[in-house]
Amino acid sequence: MYNDLIAYAIDVLDKQDYSYQELIGVIKDLFAQIAPKLNIGLITFYTNCRKNVYSEKRINYVNDFYQGEKYNVDKVLEFKNDIRNNGSYIVSLYPVDDFTTEEIECIGRLNFIFSKTLSRAKQSEIISETPTLDPLTGYLNTAGLNSNILSIVNQGKIDKYVTLFINIKDCSSINRLCGSIQDGNILIRQFADRIYSELEEDEIIGRHGGDNFTIMVKKENSAKIIELLKGINVSANIKGRNVSITIESVIGCYNNKKGDDNQTIMENSSIAMQMCKRQKNTNIIVFNEELQNKIDLKRRVKDNFGKAVLDGRIIPYYQPKVDSTTNLLYGAEALSRWQKEDGELISPGLFIPTLEEAGTICDLDFIILEKVCENIKEQVKSGITPVPISINFSKHHFSKRSSGISFVKRIINTIRDYGVDPKLIEVEFTESIKVEDYVLLRHIVSELHNEVIKVSIDDYGTGYSSLQLLESVPFDIIKMDKSFADLIGTQKGNIIFKYTTEMMRKLGKEIICEGVETKEQIDFLNSIKCTIIQGYYFDKPLPKEEYEERLKVKQYKK
Ligand code: C2E
Ligand code: CA
Ligand code: CA
Repeated sequence: MYNDLIAYAIDVLDKQDYSYQELIGVIKDLFAQIAPKLNIGLITFYTNCRKNVYSEKRINYVNDFYQGEKYNVDKVLEFKNDIRNNGSYIVSLYPVDDFTTEEIECIGRLNFIFSKTLSRAKQSEIISETPTLDPLTGYLNTAGLNSNILSIVNQGKIDKYVTLFINIKDCSSINRLCGSIQDGNILIRQFADRIYSELEEDEIIGRHGGDNFTIMVKKENSAKIIELLKGINVSANIKGRNVSITIESVIGCYNNKKGDDNQTIMENSSIAMQMCKRQKNTNIIVFNEELQNKIDLKRRVKDNFGKAVLDGRIIPYYQPKVDSTTNLLYGAEALSRWQKEDGELISPGLFIPTLEEAGTICDLDFIILEKVCENIKEQVKSGITPVPISINFSKHHFSKRSSGISFVKRIINTIRDYGVDPKLIEVEFTESIKVEDYVLLRHIVSELHNEVIKVSIDDYGTGYSSLQLLESVPFDIIKMDKSFADLIGTQKGNIIFKYTTEMMRKLGKEIICEGVETKEQIDFLNSIKCTIIQGYYFDKPLPKEEYEERLKVKQYKK
């Protein structure tokens, strides 16, 4: 009979994940049903527990759980149950007359079951009341990490530690494997517990949310933790299915230095982790001077780009395109340069990645377009006949932030504002545009065609989907990437170049060969009738004044 009672109690408790308050209600109702069967006359419930982990203040209260008509105050059965290390509660049970041994045994088993469930519910209530703890793992959250790191900084011990910023590899496939995020969380909790079990008392683990963790370990222990993070085995029984996997991590490592504050530590380790994520062949990157320089540069670019634009220090350089059969100037490509106050030039390779990240790359392209239009207008005014100029437009124009149509309108409006003949402007799109964007790209190209603006594929042959792009979008011009020109002279290279360009010509495309540096390359290209050349052989990108000298003459001597 008592076994049935216990099975029934377990069944009621397992129905759902009750909060602590709900549990008290459920247990009360249960006792209303089973107390008479167990000869119980009165139950009192007394808790002594803190509200959150930072408050030592205990809250004491008594609940009269159950009161029958008759009870014997001299024969009390008492249980003291710990709520981990956050407090305890005491249950006192008074019999109607006196308990039998069987009744005491059954009540003891029930107490064990209730106390386990109550303790877990109370613990999560304490955590959710604690603004510095992560409810999923019970370890620190970002705020908690910050305040713990700050306290180590204040103790002057920060340089004794290494910070590891961790991102779980492929977390979404863990959730998929488990069937849901909730079930995936069981494994993530185990992952955190496993790391925690290896930490010493004054070392730290915390979760930033999602699949990002920070661990701060003493320098002498870092190798052990890094080794552990190569793969942590976790397993759980999820809805009757045993799921067992190895969780791998991407690690950004920062060796804390004296004088570092918590923000520097978090930032540097996180930057190293993000860097590591981009590199497929390693699971750890240690923050170093090179990374520091990149970050400094990035910060300077971010902070100063707006002012450089206002000061007119973002300018186009012009690299001529020459027809090698006549040695006449055919056109030019506008390439951006950042002119520093001291006159030094910064090349786009150094600032474009940051502008791409910051989302300001699209502004750069329009600044260059405006400057080019302004220059062409001046040339016409001073009696120099301009040649077509191609302008690079980043693939970021295709992101959701910028709609395709307003992009084309903006180009057309700019050209019109300066009264420039649209035949003098060409648009270059890089070949690395995503396949998903081809439909939008085709639309944009036909809009540009309506305005008699030509469009080219830049860096042709560097991506994976060149042929698909060629098939999907009606480009006018193909710019053969420098890597093709570099192959000239080898038997294979010559064949590739010859037949690729022959195919382009059959498709009605114009061809421009980029990165041509030598006479041998020119001779070969002439022999296969690829005659429009852009490369150091004729000219490097030139400042406006020098370019205009070429424009006046148009004839190259070579
Ligand atoms: P890109 O469009 O492929 O431009 C050609 C790059 O190759 C230029 O580098 C040019 O100086 C270089 N180059 C040309 N001929 C030769 C040669 O014979 N030998 C060698 N070794 N290099 C040659 P630059 O000016 O540093 O530009 C780098 C890239 O930055 C450009 O590659 C383009 O993708 C990007 N970029 C430049 N300006 C802009 C811009 O205004 N907007 C956007 N979105 N991207 C730009
Ligand atoms: Ca280009
Ligand atoms: Ca190119």
